[in-house]
Amino acid sequence: MTVKKALITGIGGQDGSYLAELLLEKGYEVHGTARRVPDFVHRRANRHGTDRLILHYGDLTNGTRLVGLLEEIQPDEVYHLAAQSHVRVSFDEPEFTGNTTGLGTIRLLEAIRNTGLTCRFYQASSSEMFGAAPPPQHENTPFHPRSPYGVAKVYAYWATRNYREAYGMYAVNGILFNHESPRRGPTFVTRKIATAAARVKAGLQDTVHLGNLDARRDWGYAAEYVHAMWLMLQQDQPDDYVIATGTSHSVRDFAEHCFAHLGLDYRDHIRFDERQLRPSDVDHVVGDASKAHRVLGWKAATHAPELARLMVDAELGALNSVPGA
Ligand code: GDP
Repeated sequence: MTVKKALITGIGGQDGSYLAELLLEKGYEVHGTARRVPDFVHRRANRHGTDRLILHYGDLTNGTRLVGLLEEIQPDEVYHLAAQSHVRVSFDEPEFTGNTTGLGTIRLLEAIRNTGLTCRFYQASSSEMFGAAPPPQHENTPFHPRSPYGVAKVYAYWATRNYREAYGMYAVNGILFNHESPRRGPTFVTRKIATAAARVKAGLQDTVHLGNLDARRDWGYAAEYVHAMWLMLQQDQPDDYVIATGTSHSVRDFAEHCFAHLGLDYRDHIRFDERQLRPSDVDHVVGDASKAHRVLGWKAATHAPELARLMVDAELGALNSVPGA
């Protein structure tokens, strides 16, 4: 049997690392682009070796490089996860965000078309595309993005659909609602709160500065969401799917769960910082993932309260393993 080859752009991020681990378990040869060697590669090299995991330097602003990579790797499946993915940062760097997150997707689609590959393509679409659209949001909800990041993701969503319709490519959009884990970047609100709660408990800090506590998100567990990405590329027909838990919680709720898990009251440790506010924010998203359940057989198992606990436990574990942290 021939070994399937996957290319993951942005393998160094939270989702890239979980997806790479899933595909390696399934027997794939996994290629990833990153701008630096991700932590999980070092962990895996220490444990099992990395003979089926190959890293490439790659940047989404360079179309010629993308063509070269595709010709070299000849992947069966491409998972396009690389982006400037922080919403707050996108207000400071709107052009850069448009170039990587928006145009980067069409560069990659065009590179696939130019190389004549028949690979399958996954686009990491986002609930940020819904923005101000009233919840619950599903595959047919009209988009109303509220940030340069959301605007760029809408462009990439339509580029993916257009290449499917125009050229018959097997190209899909996974519209993933917020998904978190101990591997989430430290400036996203869930990770920031989980880290702070653990450090408060350990006596290393007393407060954490946050912005909008009333925003509601549909937070799921990233390790489960990458499985949905893989499922989307194994179907007979390409299609778009919302991936979500179907429940929403406020930032305040999430903080309450994290601190309460350690026997602490979040109100004693949270301070307001207006610099964390955004020029326009997403107030309330909650996804309706019934299509993914019906067609892919996928359903979220971990909801926000459990996610908060597992993230806090991971932070405590990390603190305990670093003497004097
Ligand atoms: P997003 O949904 O992709 O923007 O994910 P984030 O984790 O960055 O933000 C989720 C929500 O938390 C947004 O509504 C933010 O305005 C809100 N929030 C409140 N305080 C903070 C903070 O200190 N950092 C971040 N990143 N978000 C915050």
